[in-house]
Amino acid sequence: MPEETIFSKIIRREIPADIVFQDDRVTAFRDIAPQAPTHILVIPNKLIPTANDATPEDEATLGHMFIVAGEIARKEGIAEDGYRLIMNCGEHGHQEVQHIHLHLLGGRPLGSMLKRA
Ligand code: AMP
Repeated sequence: MPEETIFSKIIRREIPADIVFQDDRVTAFRDIAPQAPTHILVIPNKLIPTANDATPEDEATLGHMFIVAGEIARKEGIAEDGYRLIMNCGEHGHQEVQHIHLHLLGGRPLGSMLKRA
């Protein structure tokens, strides 16, 4: 069994978080250290540690994460100007929390995606 992270406690509302959306499959909450005016994390309620651990049975949940992210972007008023969805994976992807999460970032021009080496 994969080890739970702080995100499982957020899903169960055992620790405070600014939850903007929750249903039976996903939870979305504001990032504690926002890197843009809107910075929200959309996570599956099921613990999937990294993108490498996703299986075909997770397809519907992973798709739902994208739909929810789009709905939140519209509610936040950033859909028209655009935004960025990021999922980091593993060490090279700089994933810090081992419970997959889609970063929804927007509210200002975000620049090019990666620093050029
Ligand atoms: P990543 O580097 O992709 O794993 O991103 C992890 C994100 O989780 C970072 O942007 C953190 O600021 C955020 N984070 C960590 N702990 C919390 C928390 N308790 N509430 C909200 N966001 C958090």
